[in-house]
Amino acid sequence: MNSQELMAIEDQYGARNYRPLDVVVDRGEGVWLYDTEGRRYLDCLSAYSAVNQGHCHPRIVKVMREQAGRLTLTSRAFRNSQLGLFEQDLCELGGYEMALPMNTGSEAVETALKAARRWGYQVKGVPADQAEIIACVGNFHGRTISIISMSSEVKYTQGFGPLTPGFRLVPFGDAEALEACITDNTVAFLVEPIQGEGGVIIPPDGYLRAAAALCERYHILFMVDEIQTGLGRAGHLFAHQAEGVRPDVVMVGKALSGGLYPVSAVLADRPVLGLFGPGDHGSTFGGNPLAAAVAREALRVLVDERLSDRSMEMGSYFLGRLARLESSLVREVRGRGLMIGVELQDHAGGGRRYCEALAGRGLLCKETRGNVIRLTPPLVITRNEIDWAVEQVAAVLEA
Ligand SMILES: *Cc1c(COP(=O)(O)O)cnc(C)c1O
Repeated sequence: MNSQELMAIEDQYGARNYRPLDVVVDRGEGVWLYDTEGRRYLDCLSAYSAVNQGHCHPRIVKVMREQAGRLTLTSRAFRNSQLGLFEQDLCELGGYEMALPMNTGSEAVETALKAARRWGYQVKGVPADQAEIIACVGNFHGRTISIISMSSEVKYTQGFGPLTPGFRLVPFGDAEALEACITDNTVAFLVEPIQGEGGVIIPPDGYLRAAAALCERYHILFMVDEIQTGLGRAGHLFAHQAEGVRPDVVMVGKALSGGLYPVSAVLADRPVLGLFGPGDHGSTFGGNPLAAAVAREALRVLVDERLSDRSMEMGSYFLGRLARLESSLVREVRGRGLMIGVELQDHAGGGRRYCEALAGRGLLCKETRGNVIRLTPPLVITRNEIDWAVEQVAAVLEA
């Protein structure tokens, strides 16, 4: 079937909760995607940074095939031969004592919220049902009812109430506002090191250090959502490492499987994750042997191919080239590692039309917050491919 036919079927039977670019991707390899007509596209979205290792990475595919033919799911009612090894690898790489595996990023965030409340009541001594968690304006942590309850985006919440209580919002990047918001009932501060969906917003230098210090002073958990920024995307294993902080709780997902399978996890030390007892929390698929085997290989690929360093090096090159664009449409180009945002002027009329034009030239990316074009290719991208990408962006924005 051709693209037109497939799009018509999808539009007839699928809920319209997305507005995708009209490209029907059929195959992927490294940084390249191929549509049903065989046209080739450079992927500059990487499934919102889930495909940091590149599409269908041969090593991860091989492990997935082998494990799929051996054992895929036991539930946590029984143990499996992959889970402990995955938890060990993730803890050793991330530098934490314990991991709690889930599937989607949203579930990792939900898990962290539950851990924070549990910690607040059992360790900090907050009165029952009074726990408050502080999050940031412009955040994106997922789509469940509780997670959208801390969203400042009207589009994410309108018509989905009643929302979950217990969240407060402060401006992103403002440590004084955070301090002013803390009460005796605050149990955690939840933050993205760089806001991704929020428009690739990089906070002022020292913000994460100041936030970490406040969390320590007021005895609240410093919880960092690394689901999009982590695993090499922003030039470090975790983006918060750029400021040398060590959060109490880290959430990972997306690239944890290299995009082959939904795998997420919460990382923390024993005093936090140790508070969960049998029956307190769970997931049928969380920690399944297929997920565990795939994630272990995806992590080994990140390390073996030094993808965090590569992200920093290629990201600096990409950013440097984009910064030299001469376009009256561009307000700012910013980024860290291969997490780059091109913010357009108001008169540009939104990013969508430029993303469509880029797709027509064989480069796939997606606007966020209306006027920011996010460029986040797989971390295996080469200098030549970046040069080609810059040419396409220039052709569209300098015209
Ligand atoms: C994508 C994302 C999530 C949610 O992950 P899902 O797998 O879509 O549920 C949470 N936090 C951040 C920062 C994300 O980018």
